[in-house]
Amino acid sequence: MIKIYNTLTQKLEDFKTVEPNKVKMYVCGPTVYNYIHIGNARPAVFYDTVRRYLEYKGYEVTYVQNFTDIDDKMINRANEEGIEVKEVAKKYITAYFEDTAKINLKEEGMIRPKATENIKEMIKLVKDLEEKGYAYASEGDVYFDIEKYKENYGELSHQKIDELVSGARIEVNDKKKNPLDFTLWKAAKEGEPFWGSPWGKGRPGWHLECSVMSYKFLGKDFDIHGGGQDLIFPHHENEIAQSKCGYGGNFARYWMHNGYINIKGEKMSKSKNNFFLLREVLEKYEGRILRFFILSSHYRKPIDFSDEELKMAEQGLRRIENTLIRIDEELENIKDIQDENIVELEKTYENSIAKFELSMDEDFNTAKAIGAIFELVKSINIYLDNGITKEGKETIINIKNYIKKVMIDVLGIDIKYEKKIDSNLTKDLIEFLLEIRIDAKKEKNWELADKIREKLNNLGVEIKDGKDKTTWNLKN
Ligand SMILES: [Zn+2]
Repeated sequence: MIKIYNTLTQKLEDFKTVEPNKVKMYVCGPTVYNYIHIGNARPAVFYDTVRRYLEYKGYEVTYVQNFTDIDDKMINRANEEGIEVKEVAKKYITAYFEDTAKINLKEEGMIRPKATENIKEMIKLVKDLEEKGYAYASEGDVYFDIEKYKENYGELSHQKIDELVSGARIEVNDKKKNPLDFTLWKAAKEGEPFWGSPWGKGRPGWHLECSVMSYKFLGKDFDIHGGGQDLIFPHHENEIAQSKCGYGGNFARYWMHNGYINIKGEKMSKSKNNFFLLREVLEKYEGRILRFFILSSHYRKPIDFSDEELKMAEQGLRRIENTLIRIDEELENIKDIQDENIVELEKTYENSIAKFELSMDEDFNTAKAIGAIFELVKSINIYLDNGITKEGKETIINIKNYIKKVMIDVLGIDIKYEKKIDSNLTKDLIEFLLEIRIDAKKEKNWELADKIREKLNNLGVEIKDGKDKTTWNLKN
């Protein structure tokens, strides 16, 4: 049984879906006014892994993630770049897909609606809220009236109305009746993009789009709503108010929130200049390493981002890959001897499968699940010290396929491992490099000749220049 920590109840709850065997999930997506930073990469990778695991467990998953393509940040960026808001959106949505392709998000079947494609539906929700008495118009703006919903407002952030008023950064203006009232529709200023509405020219408030798009694709009752913990208040609190009052139903059953990515213990921020774009990080590290790094921590905990941490993730991933390479090498040399260790390994294998699933079942604890893979890898390496026997072959192949399956399909991490290169090919390549080195020497290209010697030396090939002939041997 899968259990999810629900921010709404602050409890680990049994996961019971609205419809049997189907999971409907919505995750708040980025505002496409800039390249995404690694703080955006964390929810993208984590919720993608949630989807993958649910599919691995046999659920049919409908996954919606939006693009916010109209808001103040979009308008500011358009003015800065001297282009239209929709061009800003186009540019950064293209960049989003370029960047996230490298962290292997499963795009197949994914629904990625844009706010500007759903304006009509948003106006309809605002009108419904106004008619039901939950919203009021004020000088071309429309606000949600917290007074009408005060019994439940704050249920997700677990704060009372007065705490919210004093604690939050909320926009105060004369058009609102209550400082907590939030914008559903915003009148357009001169030169801003707008849509016609019953309240005049304007654009939707930011919170509105997620209520509308989740309803459109998932209905008024769905299973999981996810996002970063910074979205709990006011964004998600406001989504709940709009959806429950406008559409009825219970909105999302399980609210999941991921922690921040910190730099040296501090939250990333532009002002502190400790801010990394995903594409900058991907210039240095492969996406699969970043993905492995993100999943090596529990999603609700903060993670520290640093070169050291990423290098550790890289080493960890290589340890798994090297074990797979080693298995392939040993499979070419099956031993016909008594196998005293295979029973032990089979046991570890079974435990590892169980532990992986138990960990993932318990609030998607990817860190613990990866730990289970490492335990298995350690045992295989001990087993391989004696070589693979006829008796052990099948188990070893099963283990290899299992590791590949959970790493690639569930955790979404590409495994890079190649079978040992044929030794004749290696020999031919070394000889070929030596020929190039001879040519280089003839042309007095000493730099290239030395480079080849050094590189081969680093790879364990020792070169000896004789009188008429160069010989080589493998160093031990
Ligand atoms: Zn949202």
